Amino acid sequence: MSNKRDFYEILGVSKNASADEIKKAYRKVAMQYHPDRNPGDKAAEEKFKEAAEAYEILSDNDKKAQYDRFGHNAFGPGRGGQGGGFSGGGMNMDDIFSQFGDIFGDEGFGSFFGGGGGRRGGGSRTSGGSRGSNLRVKLKMNFEEMAKGANKTIKIKKYVRCTTCSGSGAKDKNSVQTCGTCQGSGQVRRVQSTFLGQMQTVTTCPTCNGDGTTITAKCNSCKGEGRVFGEETVNIDIPAGVYDGLQLSIQGKGNAGERGGSFGDIIVQVEEEPHPQLQRDGLNVAFDLYISFPDAVFGTQIEVPTIDGRAKIKIPAGTQSGKIFRLKGKGFPHINSYEKGDQLIHVNIWTPQEVSAEEKAMLEKMSKSGNFEPKPEKNEKSFFDKVREMFN
Ligand SMILES: [Zn+2]
Ligand SMILES: [Zn+2]
Repeated sequence: MSNKRDFYEILGVSKNASADEIKKAYRKVAMQYHPDRNPGDKAAEEKFKEAAEAYEILSDNDKKAQYDRFGHNAFGPGRGGQGGGFSGGGMNMDDIFSQFGDIFGDEGFGSFFGGGGGRRGGGSRTSGGSRGSNLRVKLKMNFEEMAKGANKTIKIKKYVRCTTCSGSGAKDKNSVQTCGTCQGSGQVRRVQSTFLGQMQTVTTCPTCNGDGTTITAKCNSCKGEGRVFGEETVNIDIPAGVYDGLQLSIQGKGNAGERGGSFGDIIVQVEEEPHPQLQRDGLNVAFDLYISFPDAVFGTQIEVPTIDGRAKIKIPAGTQSGKIFRLKGKGFPHINSYEKGDQLIHVNIWTPQEVSAEEKAMLEKMSKSGNFEPKPEKNEKSFFDKVREMFN
């Protein structure tokens, strides 16, 4: 559905590349397209972001496994827009530069990227202060909710914007002053020696942290932080087809940043609530059905549980134990395609654990009849064929 490039292709590595190779490849691409070396070059910036996104996924074992399995569909059904949408990709420059701390820090490249990876914004800073951190929440979901999607309202304890000072951290308007170090620009220029020669770098002003202003009197409610610890009710819209362990990020709903900084994200991790009777296997649902011996001989109609309520199925006369019935389309939907799993019903014929004297006499009589002697036909599918079929 999207024309996104393959993450492996972006970094120029094979699918079997080791974590170390991926890291090395990313470093190379990031150096090549780094904004400091390609000022004003939009194409380079896009390539730079693209590489960062690829690295973010491929450097994380869980995300990499999801990507290998589902491709780009694994992350975000492309619901951007309203700011509440999911996106596994879409990194901003803040995220990318904070990533550098881990990758380049140990290699001594920190200075090249502007002071230990702490550089912000690439000129696209929208508000002062630092970005709030992400919040992780686990969300228990039952089978029906995972299959149909759900809207959940949860209360989250987190940093919220201070309402007294609207996030500025200042006591009042008069207690905000232009920063003396950067004269209000929020940035300072530095000339540094790097392995590429003398480079002039623009970094965030250390005095005001890029705000361009300093505060002479702090807001009493938040002690100048611009945010307070509180609680917020968040509405989370979960798409149909999620599964245990899947992570969805809800942008802009995490912790408030300090001094008016932007909000972090909420990372929702889906946790499967086990179903009392059904088992999930990928998109399929498996159910073990027990029927009596007479029902297997005469055939019957029987109700079975499904993801959403019960369904009637017909057991034909002469059904063998081990038979698998398939309810087409009664499994889970794929999170980002029209594909749907099935429900597989595995028939077990119940063997009585106790019998009365009368029953015993009947059974003894029956066991002498030829019809009760097992005579599996050639075309009877073997157990292994059935299992193979079941997981296809
Ligand atoms: Zn305040
Ligand atoms: Zn400053």
